[in-house]
Amino acid sequence: MECTRCHGTMAQEVFDDLRDDTGTIYFSGWRCLICGEIIDPVIAAHRTDRPKPLVGKNRTISTGRR
Ligand SMILES: [Zn+2]
Repeated sequence: MECTRCHGTMAQEVFDDLRDDTGTIYFSGWRCLICGEIIDPVIAAHRTDRPKPLVGKNRTISTGRR
């Protein structure tokens, strides 16, 4: 694994006590030994694949003509 910022050596670490919307408490990520850049799978997933926007409004638009 190579750091995306400084191309340094990254070490895999397990982060805990970090909770996001998915309820994930433990996850493994990568931390750069040189600059301290942290890449976790959640961030990587959000960068590559954005979640679809929630369309919660199911209101029917009434186009009532008079
Ligand atoms: Zn780095």
